[in-house]
Amino acid sequence: MTGGERSRRAPGQVKEVTSLSNPLVKDIKALSLKKYRDREHAFMAEGLKLVLDALDAGWIIRTLVYAKAGRGNATVEKAAARTVAAGGLVLEVSEKVLSSITRRENPQMVVGVFEQRYLPLKEIRPSDQDVWVALDRVRDPGNLGTVIRTVDAVGAKGVILVGECTDPFSIETVRATMGSLFSVSITRAEREAFLTWRGGLPGLMVGTHLKGSVDYRNVDYSKGPILLLMGNEQQGLPETLAEACDRLVRIPQAGRADSLNLAVATGVMLYEIRRAALPASHGAA
Ligand code: SAM
Repeated sequence: MTGGERSRRAPGQVKEVTSLSNPLVKDIKALSLKKYRDREHAFMAEGLKLVLDALDAGWIIRTLVYAKAGRGNATVEKAAARTVAAGGLVLEVSEKVLSSITRRENPQMVVGVFEQRYLPLKEIRPSDQDVWVALDRVRDPGNLGTVIRTVDAVGAKGVILVGECTDPFSIETVRATMGSLFSVSITRAEREAFLTWRGGLPGLMVGTHLKGSVDYRNVDYSKGPILLLMGNEQQGLPETLAEACDRLVRIPQAGRADSLNLAVATGVMLYEIRRAALPASHGAA
């Protein structure tokens, strides 16, 4: 063990790391690849606020990494103490190490490594007031993160990833959620399993489609639960999914754009649904 990587007792079980070739650092860096995230069932969240949000929401932390500059910062020390109490590891690292972990020149002072969490499809039992969003083969991490953030903002329950989707635990998606990942349920399902599950549910499945026969403002969303189904960025909804919808709605457009961005369309839909289906107690009136 080098001088820069000695363990110290106080203020907790903190390990100092300055070497880029330290195996713990290598393991964390590997989490930028989906293969390793899947293998370890883990992912990175950057920033003290996100780490605290995650801890408050009961997510399991494996490692807390903070920059040397964070030493003595009361909130960082608190996060470190909570990590140790949860059985996790705390690393105090040089800025160079933190930059290499996050692949950023000016990294956040803190990074947390958390266990992934998926809610199994069969455990979703929506009640009348609930709104869920299902995304068919979403590809873009920014879109997925923005949808998760919007789902959180309107007080909807969660996101169901249908088919081959981008990883909700990639660093880009986690960044785009701005912390909402920790308060929204994420589920994944193959298309067939999703359709079978949906078949046994009450409520309305509303699909959005450029060829939708109904204006999205002309649907009664008050009889929930509501399942909002959004199509893939390039291909839209495939027929098997479109046919399974109770309503297929269109958001009218003027101008030359052939469609709205997926996350924008989801936002427009969720705020319309929210007017009818979600209780006013969910923040914004
Ligand atoms: N080329 C794709 C197509 O033909 O459907 C465009 C897909 S669009 C970028 C991604 C998704 O956003 C669509 O599948 C649909 O769910 C939703 N969407 C975007 N604009 C929409 C609109 N004007 N009306 C209804 N849904 C829309």
